[in-house]
Amino acid sequence: QEEINHFRNKNHIYVYGSDIPAPVECFEQLRTDFDVNDKVIKNLYSEKYLKPTPIQMQAWPLLLKRREVLACAPTGSGKTAAFLMPIIHYLKAPRRKGFRAIILAPTRELAKQIARESDRMTEGLGLKTNIINKVRESNNSPYFKKFVTTPNRLIYLLEVDEEVRKIAENVEWLIVDESDKLFEDGKNGFRDQLATIFRACCGPNVVRAMFSATLSFDVEEWCKLNLYDVATVSIGMRNT
Ligand code: ADP
Ligand code: ADP
Ligand code: MG
Repeated sequence: QEEINHFRNKNHIYVYGSDIPAPVECFEQLRTDFDVNDKVIKNLYSEKYLKPTPIQMQAWPLLLKRREVLACAPTGSGKTAAFLMPIIHYLKAPRRKGFRAIILAPTRELAKQIARESDRMTEGLGLKTNIINKVRESNNSPYFKKFVTTPNRLIYLLEVDEEVRKIAENVEWLIVDESDKLFEDGKNGFRDQLATIFRACCGPNVVRAMFSATLSFDVEEWCKLNLYDVATVSIGMRNT
């Protein structure tokens, strides 16, 4: 345990919550400790990544154990791969079951960036990533596996489309990226939206995680109330 604490301190990893697993130090550990598929690991190497970033070191073992997570790390520190890799590991291969993971991003541009990274990381696995650009798209491709969208779009679809509601019930992963941005617009509107989305993604197997650049008191309180046994990871800053 002392060694683990030392390793965390060295990498400025701060954790809060019960039973937080040890961070992974290298990609190889994903194979040996978590049985992550070679192809998934190969896609990390082919990105020319040499080793996990601190947020990946700690978020990966948590998400691979299917824990609900609030993760905070500075911009540019690899949060996208921090949530994509465990999702890809679990989705394994296409199942023609409708979409199985939802990633919410605050803007279309961010959704596109995440989708591009997802495309690279799923290469050779047959998994598909879709961005909801126009509401109609959901009807055109009923078999998409992952689904990156902004909250309003998803809420609208949940309201008008029975099919989308059914799919939401079966979703295995729900990621809220840049959750601090989504929370900050002051209107409180996002809280209601998120509550609606959480209610819709209510399957027994859903794992939900929030990623952001800053650890805000509001988001932390919200997560304590709304995530199951939340594990909080914060990189480079102590809790306030
Ligand atoms: P964030 O969401 O934290 O702002 P991104 O996920 O957009 O950061 O990642 C920032 C950059 O770091 C991207 O170019 C990404 O490809 C790269 N990156 C991600 N993980 C690693 C890693 N383990 N090693 C090196 N570069 C990485
Ligand atoms: P945008 O990304 O276009 O700025 P939103 O993310 O708020 O906007 O919404 C995305 C899309 O979802 C809208 O362009 C529209 O097609 C649809 N949409 C959202 N809310 C509604 C609504 N109440 N009625 C009809 N369409 C809606
Ligand atoms: Mg990001």
